Amino acid sequence: MKRRMPGVWLLCGWMMVIPLHLDGWGFFAHSRINYQAVFSLPPDMLVFFKPYQSFLTEHAADADRRKFILRSEAPRHYFDADAYDSTAWPCSWQQATLRWPAETLHHQGILPWSTLQVYNQLVEAFRQHDGKRILKLAADLGHYIADACVPLHACSNYDGQFTGQHGIHALWETDVPERLYPHFQLWVGKAHYLPQPSATIWQLIRESARAADTVLAVEKYLRHHFPRKAKYSYYLRKDQWVKGYSTTYLETYESMMHQMVERRMQQAIQAVASFWYTAWVNAGQPDLRNLTGVQFTHADSLEWKSLEHLQWNARKERTGYFKE
Ligand SMILES: [Zn+2]
Repeated sequence: MKRRMPGVWLLCGWMMVIPLHLDGWGFFAHSRINYQAVFSLPPDMLVFFKPYQSFLTEHAADADRRKFILRSEAPRHYFDADAYDSTAWPCSWQQATLRWPAETLHHQGILPWSTLQVYNQLVEAFRQHDGKRILKLAADLGHYIADACVPLHACSNYDGQFTGQHGIHALWETDVPERLYPHFQLWVGKAHYLPQPSATIWQLIRESARAADTVLAVEKYLRHHFPRKAKYSYYLRKDQWVKGYSTTYLETYESMMHQMVERRMQQAIQAVASFWYTAWVNAGQPDLRNLTGVQFTHADSLEWKSLEHLQWNARKERTGYFKE
């Protein structure tokens, strides 16, 4: 079934490796992107976003967790740019549905349109002065925008399944950011106002789509030229020695892509902050000072707990993962 992958276990074969690779940018990278984006906001927004920075960080991957209970969630995380003639987009959802059946659009991913939908909902939440809704939508919007910055989320060969490169999805968006993160420079400056949010999301998609070839070509080159014995090693993760890609291999991959993972992470942070900022400006720059003290209900925490539970169950049962 399309979009259903055998998961991390195929990556390693002979190795005992814990299942780290089930998620989009990886839960780690998504959380770092939302966390870092807060620092780019102006003081009038920081007054609300800074106290809830940990919320935005912890809930950066709720959108991925929802995929375990909602089938309709998966297509919101990718867009197969190469499935279309490049002159076919950008286009609005309405225009798209006039040209292609909705089923085809969902099959090939609806990331740009659903991101804009969440953006519009965030504008409305700011207008309504609804603190809880602002936080939930801002966390989700950060997630979808970050996904748009991932080349393999804009490409039908999303895990190298057409080219014998299974596992490349996790390599690019989980292994590299998690392991090389301490060397990344992620301060991106202030958020910008986006005159046309729809143009920005399509631009991010276009850049990701263009970069997908490099992501695949460099991995293919290394697959044949990097010494196999040096490709894997033990490394320390959460006080446990586990086997995975060696640091040298990850650094070589990132270096041959001219630090693409770091650059796309920077781009994601800048875009997330700018979308949040633009939503606030377009809502009329509401005063956020009196929004502090948002109360989450028992139902909220039950919902989050059940999402986490389902996610871990799915991992345990090795049910595979959807492209995120
Ligand atoms: Zn995702």
